[in-house]
Amino acid sequence: MTSTIRHTSKDVRYIVITGGVASSLGKGILASSLGLLLQSRGFRVTIQKFDPYLNVDPGTMNPYEHGECFVTEDGAETDLDLGHYERFLGQKTSRANNITAGDIYYKLLHRERSGDFLGQTVQVIPHLTDAIKQRMYDLGQSGAYDLVLVEVGGCVGDIESLPFVEAMRQVRLEVKASHVVFLHLTLVPYLESAGELKTKPTQQSVKALLSLGIQPDILLCRSSHALPRSIREKIALHCNIPMTHVVAAQDVHLIYDVPLRMRKEKLDERVLSKLKLPYKTPPKLDEWKAFVSRLRAPVDEVTIGLVGKYTRLQDAYLSIQEALCHAGAHQECKVKILWISAHELVEEQVAQRLGTCHGILVAPGFGERGVKGKLAAVGHARQNNIPFLGICLGMQCAVVEFARHVLKRTAAASTEINPNTKHPVIALMAEQKKATSKGGSMRLGAYHCQIRKNTKAHHLYGTQKVAERHRHRYEFNNTYLREFEEAGMCIAGTNPDSGLVELIELSNHPFFIGCQFHPEYRSWALRPHPLFTHFIKASLHYATHAPLKKTTVV
Ligand code: GLN
Repeated sequence: MTSTIRHTSKDVRYIVITGGVASSLGKGILASSLGLLLQSRGFRVTIQKFDPYLNVDPGTMNPYEHGECFVTEDGAETDLDLGHYERFLGQKTSRANNITAGDIYYKLLHRERSGDFLGQTVQVIPHLTDAIKQRMYDLGQSGAYDLVLVEVGGCVGDIESLPFVEAMRQVRLEVKASHVVFLHLTLVPYLESAGELKTKPTQQSVKALLSLGIQPDILLCRSSHALPRSIREKIALHCNIPMTHVVAAQDVHLIYDVPLRMRKEKLDERVLSKLKLPYKTPPKLDEWKAFVSRLRAPVDEVTIGLVGKYTRLQDAYLSIQEALCHAGAHQECKVKILWISAHELVEEQVAQRLGTCHGILVAPGFGERGVKGKLAAVGHARQNNIPFLGICLGMQCAVVEFARHVLKRTAAASTEINPNTKHPVIALMAEQKKATSKGGSMRLGAYHCQIRKNTKAHHLYGTQKVAERHRHRYEFNNTYLREFEEAGMCIAGTNPDSGLVELIELSNHPFFIGCQFHPEYRSWALRPHPLFTHFIKASLHYATHAPLKKTTVV
């Protein structure tokens, strides 16, 4: 049985990035950084990630397993690396940018059941590997890009990543030699006891890759220390790579610094010369450099209390963290995040626990755990005029808290938390009542929001029509709408088609905004999101005008 797919586009080039030795070496950040350098030279770039696990997408995984689930404009629940791609490149991705082994198998087996392969044995090679390559070529042949970076998740040598590595080997045969380049990220550990950097893991990782038929063209060596010439020479000799193509990827404090480091290492030049593309004119990085300088030398500082359920793993709120960072850079202000575990937050201690915060952000989430703490945090922000941003479940908590304490409907709740509540101010969306499957069945992706004139939201967005990304099943119950409005909660934005409430704000509060959508998915390094920049601005104002009582944080 031979491969049936063909690569037809003549111009697009592929940059394949594999990883070895250990996971979490920062392949996603390196791919994003290289992508940015190439984009800054005028190339049209996109990044695709293959994930070797068997979930069809990460949407059903616990954030402690996999970190945040990033939602694309077209409603795909994806790996958090896609967030990095968007934030660095300043452009949207789609479901075509993240493919899991589960997704490939799922579609392949459906084809088998519907008779597409009648008479044939369906095999890993060529059927599965063809399906993998097809996804990569589809993106390449869309005509939208000059360069497609392909990040192969996992580590070379893992059983589950084998079909992906094999598919990439075949790409080398199908695409012109000058149209594909292989980068391999490894670890060069520093042994404290020996006082030196060790190259053996890198050598072995490259051998593992060679045994699968791939000779890497460029090595990215992650290390805690600078890579001296002698080490580069040794790696080059053992791995059949010119020394100039052994690139140091030393630890940095700031992920946004990585593109500038990679530029110093001439990574973009090495890649372009391998791809026989012009590389002499340097990339235009002025805006990026200015952003990094603002991040490095802030004028002010604010502390934001982030109240969430998964605060033990900060990757669970990665896009929120980054959105706060972008907004901080915009305001020349360092944003310190005080992580508050919602289920440990009890009403009596709220004032003390949140006492050092200049702004409070109540995070998205699912299920009952931690909701009490979130409600207490909302109440504290509302009553003390502390800037507040509630995202998704955070907005829903703001609605429930208002219903209980301002409308005096003490039994008010979301039906997600109490299905029998007397006052279901947040309730399951009509179309969700029919949903039986758990995967990809929420209200996902971008929907329009019509903003009411002269509201705070209107002022800070500077427009009345926006589109934002969603990931939820419950919604504001419009039967209570008038009651809320009469008591001072303004429904500042709704979806023009369904009437679903998208934005709420309090008229008599300096900054109290809740959004049903996730603005964090639309914050880019060079284009921070207005909800976040104004939240930081309000927090800065609060920090300078309402000096905090010194309270100890427990
Ligand atoms: N659990 C809530 C819902 O499904 C909120 C979801 C979220 O915060 N992303 O509506």
